[in-house]
This record gives sequence, C-alpha cells and structure tokens, in this order.
Amino acid sequence: MNIILLGPPGAGKGTQAKKISEYYSLPHISTGDILRENINNNTSLGLKAKSYMSRGELVPDELLITIIKDRLSKNDCYRGFLLDGYPRTIPQADALQMILTESGKKVDVVLNISVDDEELVKRLSGRRMCKCGASYHIIFNRPEKEDICNACKGKLYQRDDDKPEAIRNRLTVYKKQTQPLIDYYNKKKILRTIDGSKEISQIFEDIKNVLEEYGKL
Ligand code: ADP
Ligand code: AMP
Repeated sequence: MNIILLGPPGAGKGTQAKKISEYYSLPHISTGDILRENINNNTSLGLKAKSYMSRGELVPDELLITIIKDRLSKNDCYRGFLLDGYPRTIPQADALQMILTESGKKVDVVLNISVDDEELVKRLSGRRMCKCGASYHIIFNRPEKEDICNACKGKLYQRDDDKPEAIRNRLTVYKKQTQPLIDYYNKKKILRTIDGSKEISQIFEDIKNVLEEYGKL
C-alpha cells in the first residue's frame, strides 16, 4: 500500500505517520527528516536546504525530486511506503507519478489531515522534537519526563522553523503551493479527508478505518 499524508504544517502528519508505520510495518519517509539529517551531517544537500528551511520556505523541487527518487528505490519500499511531507507542490506530485509509473506502481490513497489555522499555530509553537524523529507538545502530548524523549531518552529541542515568523510564513506557503494538491488528488479520486482536530488516538482510529477499506496492507 502506497500512502501519502497531506496536510498543513502542524496537522499531525509526523505523529500519525509514526503510528501508521509501526502498525502496518511500512517505511515512514519524511522529507523534512531527511533534510534535517543532511543539515546535521553538513552534506552539500543540507547546506543548500538550510536557509530555505529556516525561513519556512520550500526547498527547490529539483532537490526534493532527487531525494524521493533515491529513497523510493530502496528495498524497504517494495511492499509499500508512507510519504510524510512529500509532495508539497504540483511539480513534485507529477514527478512522483512518473517515478512510480516507471516501476509499475501508483499512489493508493492520500490522507488529507485537516486542522484550522488557530490550532496549527498552537501546535507548532508548542512542538518539541527529538533527533530520533519523535515529536511532542508541551501541553497536548507531553513526554513522560520534561524535555526528554520517551523512546530514546534524547534531549528535546525546538525547531528553528517553529518560531513565530517562520510559522506564519509556512502557513502562507502551504496555502499557496501545497493546498492545490487537495484538488489534484481529489480529481484522481484517491483523496480521503481526516478530521485532524480530534485527539491523537482518535485520529489514528479514523485513519485505520479508512485504510482497512483498502484491504490487505
Ligand atoms: P506535522 O508533521 O504535520 O508538521 P506533527 O505531527 O509534528 O505535525 O504535530 C505538530 C505538533 O502538534 C506536535 O507538537 C504534536 O505533538 C502535536 N499534535 C499532533 N497531533 C495532535 C492532536 N491531534 N492534538 C493535539 N496536538 C497534536
Ligand atoms: P516538515 O518537517 O515536513 O515540516 O518540513 C520542514 C521543512 O523542510 C519545510 O518547511 C521545507 O522547508 C522543507 N521540506 C520538507 N519537505 C519538502 C518538500 N516536499 N518540498 C520542499 N521543501 C520541503
């Protein structure tokens, strides 16, 4: 099963992706995580991406298309994958379709997680991350021990792009460049909208109910 998680920044894509990936044993491919790892490792890709990311802008399509083509060619994607944060533009979606068609695959379902702007700002400004990819919230999803990751015991940090100015920019960028994908996938009749304003565990139940309709994963 090939799944895309679509939604504005802060909708809960990463939070739900972790759960879906564990439950269905599908690789969780987060382009944001891949880019942050490259920044931490000072790769040339990381250097190119850094300034765009800290301003809350999208990294150029050519770089993302190369990343995703390379990642989808890995063996662990043979029985399906879960994309989180890709595609974010129409050219990225077109490129994905070409990459998949070349290997006889397709996107099965796009889960569009919908949350209003006021809630997104609250979620992003209280988000705390761990290097292992886990994400917490200072009020809505607190770690067992303050500032420490439940899973790997790493120290939590606040992302640069979760500061107020970058948050505002990311929401504007989402509306202009990513929101058109809702219509794009709706026309292909593979879009399912999930109410992302509920509690984390309830949203996961709703997602499982949708995915079960698609049969064996
Ligand atoms: P995204 O990957 O879409 O940017 P995240 O999964 O990182 O979003 O979630 C953003 C923030 O909101 C995190 O701090 C997370 O703990 C919190 N969060 C996620 N889902 C919910 C929810 N349903 N209710 C409240 N807070 C949530
Ligand atoms: P995320 O972790 O998904 O919130 O992504 C963090 C940042 O990484 C985004 O604000 C962009 O700057 C960059 N990024 C991640 N995925 C993409 C993508 N598909 N296209 C362009 N930029 C991306």
